[in-house]
Parts: sequence; C-alpha cells; structure tokens
Amino acid sequence: MEPKRFNEIIVNRFKECEEVLISKEEEYSSGTDRLHNFKVAAAALQTTPEEALLGMWIKHIVSIIDLMKNPDSATPSLIKEKFGDNINYSLLAEATLLERIENKKQEVETETVAFDVVALDCDVCKRRYEYSAIDIYQAFLKKETICCKNCETSLKYTVTL
Ligand SMILES: [Zn+2]
Repeated sequence: MEPKRFNEIIVNRFKECEEVLISKEEEYSSGTDRLHNFKVAAAALQTTPEEALLGMWIKHIVSIIDLMKNPDSATPSLIKEKFGDNINYSLLAEATLLERIENKKQEVETETVAFDVVALDCDVCKRRYEYSAIDIYQAFLKKETICCKNCETSLKYTVTL
C-alpha cells in the first residue's frame, strides 16, 4: 500500500471516531456522565462498568474476527462500521479505567483530610487547641458550632471548599 493511501485511511478513521464520540456526547447532553450507560448496565448485571463495557465491546471484536477470517466477505461499509466501533469502545474503555484511578485519588485525598487537624484560638479564654478538620467540616455542614475545649465558647472558623 502506498504511504499516501495508508495515511488517508488513518486520518479518516480518527476523524470519524472523534465525530461519533462527540455527536454521542451531544445526544446525551442532559446527563453529565459520558460513561452513564456502562454504569447502569453494570448495576443491572451486578458487575463493574469495565465488564459491562467489555460485554458490549466483545460483540464488535467477534465481528472483526469474522471479517479477518473471511476477508472476501468484507465490504468498505462493514470495515468502516466494525473497526470504527472497535476504536470507540477502546477509547471508552480507557476513559472507564482512568475514571476509576481518578476517583481513587479523590478518596485518598478525602481520607487525608480526615486525619488533618486545625488549631483554633478561643476569643474568650485565649487558649489554642487542635480540632479534627473532619469534625469542623461536619459541624459546618450541619450548621453546628465547634466549642472551645476549655471554656466551651463557640469558636469562629472558616471552611474553604
Ligand atoms: Zn475558651
């Protein structure tokens, strides 16, 4: 194959995949989660979004196996459809795995906050004590106050979210 024709195939393929994924995004613009369908399928099948995605993806892989084993049955439109779907599922699979890693990082950050302590000064007795950041945050959410460990005066603090 001439390099020119090969390059054309690659460029067209990626352009088409991008168009399909972006038009799908517009289709589901009411939701904010691009991986929503895999999560719903995973819940219904009591499995992970990764396995739910794999279950849908494998159908396209089987079609590709059929095409490669029977190359004379391949037509340009079949090739376009099957290989395009395969790349799209590959990209969605990548996003699913990356999201899992990124969610884990957030959990670790939240756990770190739980062990953080904040020193607060009491305006009345002028004593300084340490309070757990998670206690302060929970009090903030419940609109409760954190009291001085010495005189039980309500302490002033700010919470940065
Ligand atoms: Zn005090």
